[in-house]
Amino acid sequence: MRILVTGGAGFIGSCFVRMLLGTEDPLGVSAVTVLDSLTYAGNRENLTPVAADPRFEFVQGDIRDAELVSTLVPGQDTVVHFAAESHVDRSLSGATEFVSTNALGTQTLLDAALRKGTTFLHVSTDEVYGSVAEGSWPEEHLLQPTSPYSASKACSDLIALSYHRTYGLDVRVTRCSNNYGPYQFPEKIIPLFTTRLLEGLKVPLYGDGLNVRDWLHVEDHCHALIAVLRAGRAGEIYNIGAGEELTNRDLTERLLSACGADWSMVHPAPDRQGHDLRYSVDTRKIRTELGWAARHHLAEGLEGTVAWYRDNRAWWEPLVRLMETTAER
Ligand code: NAD
Repeated sequence: MRILVTGGAGFIGSCFVRMLLGTEDPLGVSAVTVLDSLTYAGNRENLTPVAADPRFEFVQGDIRDAELVSTLVPGQDTVVHFAAESHVDRSLSGATEFVSTNALGTQTLLDAALRKGTTFLHVSTDEVYGSVAEGSWPEEHLLQPTSPYSASKACSDLIALSYHRTYGLDVRVTRCSNNYGPYQFPEKIIPLFTTRLLEGLKVPLYGDGLNVRDWLHVEDHCHALIAVLRAGRAGEIYNIGAGEELTNRDLTERLLSACGADWSMVHPAPDRQGHDLRYSVDTRKIRTELGWAARHHLAEGLEGTVAWYRDNRAWWEPLVRLMETTAER
């Protein structure tokens, strides 16, 4: 199998590539091509462990570049599409890149996939459903995204599914809850808080800290994507989540404890605009149809993640300095 991985230099895409080319070799791939434009969130170092593998190729380029994409996609059996603008806060201060990359970029790739009938796995998020006070959303739930980020992802989901419904292209969509793990850019809450605490800096907790998220280890997300590639059905949506729901206050408490700090290291920050209270996906479909289950438990996974950031300062310190110069930290 030949796979094109868009956004493969980012947090989740690079984990997926390392997994495909690792000792497990879950799909028996013959070639993995990463297409990534290397925005601030993309990092070639995330792919260092597989860089020497003869099956691996890296192409720096933009998913909105129709000419480039039309030369890359036809030689592939499958496209796994991670590339996106992914940070909600950035979408609040400027939505153009989000709509352009997430919606137009996805459509550009789909057009290229359509020409040769290439299978297309579209990696999306639970945020497209919007906030839910109680219960968990099934895959058929109405989409009610709140932020420009989640709205642009909902748009890309619908475009992807339209290529199945209209043209019969094998498109599969996954909607995953919040991920954590090694190599996550230090703007997202877990690496942001961890790296700040490791540097002896206070952490900013939004609002009352009672927003609830379901945290899934990035490796479990990638295993779920592999299950969908192996046995998922065309035109179907699969929710992915661990059922490990936590308020941001509880998450902060755990990170403080893992870093040997206390509540004096937390300062309240004004709440994010339109901050969704709770996301929760119903994951019965992927568990019963595809036999997927999360392998990591949050307590152990968080400990391992904090340990990784403690041991890999050389990876994140330059990124943190970059964020400081662009006033993102
Ligand atoms: P990330 O921001 O770490 O990585 C995104 C990658 O896409 C980067 O390498 C970046 O350089 C690349 N990219 C951005 N724009 C591009 C363009 N126009 N052309 C080519 N490459 C481009 O994101 P992530 O956290 O790894 O998320 C990957 C995917 O998973 C996204 O689609 C996101 O919506 C989805 N997702 C993320 C989470 C999460 O918790 N991080 C949860 C569910 C779903």
